[in-house]
Amino acid sequence: MDAFALVPPEWTKSAVHAVDFCCPSCKSNPKKAQNVWLNRRAPVSVDGHRKWQEFYQCECNTAWWGWSDDRPPAKSSK
Ligand SMILES: [Zn+2]
Repeated sequence: MDAFALVPPEWTKSAVHAVDFCCPSCKSNPKKAQNVWLNRRAPVSVDGHRKWQEFYQCECNTAWWGWSDDRPPAKSSK
């Protein structure tokens, strides 16, 4: 799989917007997704920073997406 492919994968077409950034069907964490695709070609500028759509195909086969700035920050080990 290629998260930075230029052409959107077929499974992204049925993706639904998940505002809480987890699978809308099973609430699974995006880290467990079987596929990821980042729409880096079409970023949106909001108040000087850019965000883009991140598509995930969950292990339960539900496709969903969220804004990159809605993604919870990775926990630091510090
Ligand atoms: Zn799921």
